[in-house]
Amino acid sequence: MRPIVLATGNIHKVREIQPALNETGFQVYAQTEFFSEEVEEDGLSFVENAIKKARYACQKTGMPALADDSGLEVDVLGGQPGIYSARYALSTVGEKSDEQNLQKLLDDLQNIPDAQRQARYCCAMAYFEHPDDAMPIIGVGTWAGDILTERRTGQGIGYDDVFWVPQFFKTVSEIPDEIKNSVSHRAKALESVLSQLQGVQL
Ligand code: IMP
Repeated sequence: MRPIVLATGNIHKVREIQPALNETGFQVYAQTEFFSEEVEEDGLSFVENAIKKARYACQKTGMPALADDSGLEVDVLGGQPGIYSARYALSTVGEKSDEQNLQKLLDDLQNIPDAQRQARYCCAMAYFEHPDDAMPIIGVGTWAGDILTERRTGQGIGYDDVFWVPQFFKTVSEIPDEIKNSVSHRAKALESVLSQLQGVQL
């Protein structure tokens, strides 16, 4: 098994990413086993932030590292909250919990008709083989849906409870984990990274 550090402190992301890495022959370590500080996400794209997080984890641990940066883009909001998805409500409410972020999204879309509520989850992943890696592997993935006018279950992480996936006729919060983990933005980005990695190793 090859060692790899997952450059995230987010337990939900670890749960989504780890099984596919294990199946591909990686021994997965959480970055929290080595350090606790968070990298400042000041890039202007998902890709830049993923690179920053992966490079830092690789430098700190000396092991290959994989990072993800993700978020929600809403068309009628010009792509917001985008890279600021995790802290969307910070500027208006002074808080950045999932609850506050989701409520701000519903408020911002209050008068928007159903036909204009298209959105997509986006994910960029970066893999660093070593700290000076000048050719990091980058994978991206998206998952299209619509933003509902109200929560469905009162459960689910992030924006999952209002993100409606027409293909399944469900919100993400109602889709079983094993299905989400095979079709989501994160699953697609990971699949891309893993297939590129296999190409590099040939
Ligand atoms: P990151 O940790 O900077 O990548 O922030 C990701 C943010 O985007 C999260 O805090 C969520 O608000 C949102 N997000 C990304 N992917 C998902 C998902 O699969 N479900 C729910 N929310 C997500």
